Amino acid sequence: MFIYLICSILFILALRKLSSVRTAINGNNFAIAGIAIAVISSFTSCTFDTKTLCIIAVIGFGGLIGWFITKKIKMKDLPQLVAAFHSLIGLAAVCTDTAIFLNPGVFNIGSFKSITSLIEIALGLAVGAITFAGSAVACLKLCEKLKSNSIKNIHILNILLVSALILSIFLFIKNANILMFIMIVLISTILGCTMIVPICGADMPVIVSMLNSLSGWAATGIGLTLSNDLLIIVGALVGTSGAMLSNIMCKGMNRKLSSVVSVGFRNQHNQSKQISTQMLVNQCVAEDVVFMLENTNSVIIVPGYGMAVSQAQHVIKELFDKLLTRGINVKFAIHPVAGRMPGHMNVLLAEANIRDNFVYELDNINSEFASTDIVIVVGANDTVNPSAKDDKQSAIYGMPVLEVWKAKTVVVIKRSLNPGYAGIDNALFSKQNTLMLLGDAKKVINDIVKQL
Ligand code: NDP
Repeated sequence: MFIYLICSILFILALRKLSSVRTAINGNNFAIAGIAIAVISSFTSCTFDTKTLCIIAVIGFGGLIGWFITKKIKMKDLPQLVAAFHSLIGLAAVCTDTAIFLNPGVFNIGSFKSITSLIEIALGLAVGAITFAGSAVACLKLCEKLKSNSIKNIHILNILLVSALILSIFLFIKNANILMFIMIVLISTILGCTMIVPICGADMPVIVSMLNSLSGWAATGIGLTLSNDLLIIVGALVGTSGAMLSNIMCKGMNRKLSSVVSVGFRNQHNQSKQISTQMLVNQCVAEDVVFMLENTNSVIIVPGYGMAVSQAQHVIKELFDKLLTRGINVKFAIHPVAGRMPGHMNVLLAEANIRDNFVYELDNINSEFASTDIVIVVGANDTVNPSAKDDKQSAIYGMPVLEVWKAKTVVVIKRSLNPGYAGIDNALFSKQNTLMLLGDAKKVINDIVKQL
């Protein structure tokens, strides 16, 4: 029990430290220490027979795969990796519940007579299967292998699935029968897919964080079934912190959590996407930007997902240093959902040693665009799209955006006029004071730095 207490304190410290980029590495170290102590302490109560050795071998093999994946993964692919890991937690919950249900004696649980344990199993299964399938779909969407095109009348299907799930859970608790057990797994898996598929653009980050929360509750479910206090505490920590993060993101996006979660339960016929193939834009080249930068007093750099794709953060740091030495007032503006995971841009800028005091959140910088000479948008699109403010038909209408178009000149660096994650046109590109500098962000900024 004492060891569990130490582990719990380590996990709480980890969460505390992970809330800031500067202390995040320490946070990770606390979490690693907590997990290591928990795993080692589990083995101290085991006899070292063949089964235990098999378990150690499997953990070692899994750890090796994890190590290999994290060594190989590119920073830009981190969000989908996180979603894939959440999916595995859901799958683990389903597998554990199945093992417990089929052979409760092995887990020292006895037979399933009490309603409480049946409720724990049923809810753990449902949450686990929804997390498994939902996170897998989120992963595919983040890899851009699956689009948000809503299947016709998917909301009716979802309502039917929820009703069937409630009925199956009720029948399972009443009879503890294997058929209902299988039904819960099947229905929850389908529901996990059909609930997440229609969610698009501005709502996606909130759903990713909701799935993070669900993975925590799935772990709590296993902890309750196994009467393992540490698993209950850790699951609850992940569950509540994920739910709080979803709430914070909803506030940042001007969305209601209930309306995000219920997207799959509403008729989607109004959410058509607007993409035009032709747009009249002013193009420029690196020399033009260099000339402007040589005659400017203030610059705001707005990074987006494209910066992560091209890994342009280090060359941006070089540009930033050059501008500072010329006495130019330079700031960075970060949108809460820029990139593909919460804090994505902050992590990349920190990696390039750009100090926090130059980095501003949306609320603190939006009023400054009007008095800024040049805004350089690096691979951002949806987060600087004026349609979020003035087009009620837009899929991102209502989402607060960085109002970059208010600056004297806006330079947008991206490879083409293609839309961003939400799949909609961006009127910013055709504004009079916008110059499009088309090309890979790293290459283009490198050209500017060389010429400055
Ligand atoms: P967007 O996804 O809107 O746009 C990114 C842009 O980067 C694209 O238009 C692309 O244009 C450009 N780009 C890609 N590669 C490069 C490159 N090598 N060089 C230069 N440009 C490049 O990004 P934002 O950050 O503005 O917005 C994030 C979006 O992702 C929002 O819609 C948000 O809701 C969503 N989302 C956010 C999550 C989060 O937690 N932060 C999670 C899930 C979704 P082109 O192809 O023409 O180069």
